[in-house]
Amino acid sequence: MNALDLALLRPRLPSPLVPLGDERFARRGLTLLLKRDDLIHPELPGNKWRKLALNLEAAAGRPVLTFGGAYSHHLRATAAAGRLLGFPTVGIVRGDELAGRPLNPSLAGCAADGMRLEFVDRSTYRAKNDPAVLARLLEYAPADAYVVPEGGSNALAVRGCVELGRELAGASDVVAVACGTGGTLAGLAAGLAPGQRALGVPVLRGGFLGREVRALQEAAFGGPRGDWTLDERFHGGGYARTSPDLDAFTHDFEERHGLAIERLYVAKMLHCLTTLAEEGAFPPGTRLAAVVTGGRDAY
Ligand SMILES: *Cc1c(COP(=O)(O)O)cnc(C)c1O
Repeated sequence: MNALDLALLRPRLPSPLVPLGDERFARRGLTLLLKRDDLIHPELPGNKWRKLALNLEAAAGRPVLTFGGAYSHHLRATAAAGRLLGFPTVGIVRGDELAGRPLNPSLAGCAADGMRLEFVDRSTYRAKNDPAVLARLLEYAPADAYVVPEGGSNALAVRGCVELGRELAGASDVVAVACGTGGTLAGLAAGLAPGQRALGVPVLRGGFLGREVRALQEAAFGGPRGDWTLDERFHGGGYARTSPDLDAFTHDFEERHGLAIERLYVAKMLHCLTTLAEEGAFPPGTRLAAVVTGGRDAY
């Protein structure tokens, strides 16, 4: 089968690394860089490009079946890749109550890109890694379908994110990244240079992510890699969850910097990083980098 040529999509790699002047950091002797992964590709932005690239090469043009919630950036990116590169896509969506209702903009975009959407109840969705359940879900896809797990995070995805760390090697002391599945953090940490630390900010319910990141590194590399920690304080109980505090922070940040920021993940990570800076969590002289894993209006 013909290999897919992702280079045809002209990704902007390495992504730009730009200083951001922000007095809340400067006042404490800290410097801040933004790693603009949101600029990698207009339809496959940020970590979604890095996580999909090796998987799409492995799928080599076969249909791709994958999983996500109603607002999944991963489903949206997979559907766009299918349209741009010419392979069929199937999205298994959490929540059968969504079937028969008007699609939200994210899912409508998936459908417009030709993704077949199948809505499944939450207990089926939760059991999707069970071989019998997966076999049933695979009936929605052609026989030779390639399966990408929820959020796109498998060993190939983690390996694809190593390059993100390499692009940042030596450029900062701490690299902050928002986490859903933790796949990006797992790869990023592996690509950093000695002396650098990755700081993961989970946006889902806390408590389990450290285990997941270790398991993903085990699958990708056969053992732990790099220096990483989590700050679970801002997980806020879910992707879509927000608060007046976070909204105020986000508006203020956008006005200060003239930059629209993605709400589900990036705003929470920047809020966490700014709060840590203001609390004096980093010694003066610390160089910080924040990964902009996605763009505001991509979807
Ligand atoms: C998917 C996504 C994440 C989470 O990435 P994981 O590898 O699942 O941790 C973070 N930020 C944005 C903008 C995303 O779309």
